[in-house]
Order: sequence, then structure tokens, then C-alpha cells
Amino acid sequence: MFINEELECVVCCYEYSRSDRVPRVLHCSHTFCAPCLEKMSKLDGGIRCVSCPLCRWITCTPVSLTLSGALWVNTDIWDQILEEQQWRKQDALFGNSSACVQKMTSLQYATPARKK
Ligand SMILES: [Zn+2]
Ligand SMILES: [Zn+2]
Repeated sequence: MFINEELECVVCCYEYSRSDRVPRVLHCSHTFCAPCLEKMSKLDGGIRCVSCPLCRWITCTPVSLTLSGALWVNTDIWDQILEEQQWRKQDALFGNSSACVQKMTSLQYATPARKK
């Protein structure tokens, strides 16, 4: 659950991706997707400022750099995007998710019997 939340941008609630929603880290170490960072950024003279929606920390980068050039990619999330995609492929191939649902159902089934 926590992992899934981390893989989503809290601003737009879309999952990060390696192409259009690249996870980028602000100087306060909060991560958002690149399109949201672009939207949140404000130009102020020769400086681009991004105010973090979580902690209000203002990250300033030079306008001469693009946001993608000035901010680091969150490599932890980047790596997890790859793993996620691989897991989904495995689920589709071996039907892992349906096996998981069966486990859950049998667990729920077992609980009332134990109470008696
Ligand atoms: Zn976003
Ligand atoms: Zn922050």
C-alpha cells in the first residue's frame, strides 16, 4: 500500500512513468512528477521557484536550466517503476493476482469459524 502511494504523484494522483511523468525530487526531498513541477513553478527574474505543496519549502533553480536539468530524478521510484511493470507482466502470465485473491477469500472464510 505504502509503495503504491509513493509511486503516485500526490498532486495529480497519476502513477509516475519513465516517459511523461518522471519523478523528480525538490530540494526538500519531496517528489512530484515533472508536469506538475512545471505547473507549480513560477518565474521570478532569473530564478524559477517551485513551492512544495507538502511542506511549503521553496526550491529555486536558475531559469537557464530546465526543471529536468535542475532537479534530480528520484532513482528509488524510477527503479520501482521498472519492477512494477515486470510484476504486472508476471501477474498476467502466471495469474498470480487471482491466486492472491483466493488466499484472501479462504482467510476471511476461516476467521468466523475460529471465533466459535
Ligand atoms: Zn503530478
Ligand atoms: Zn517538500
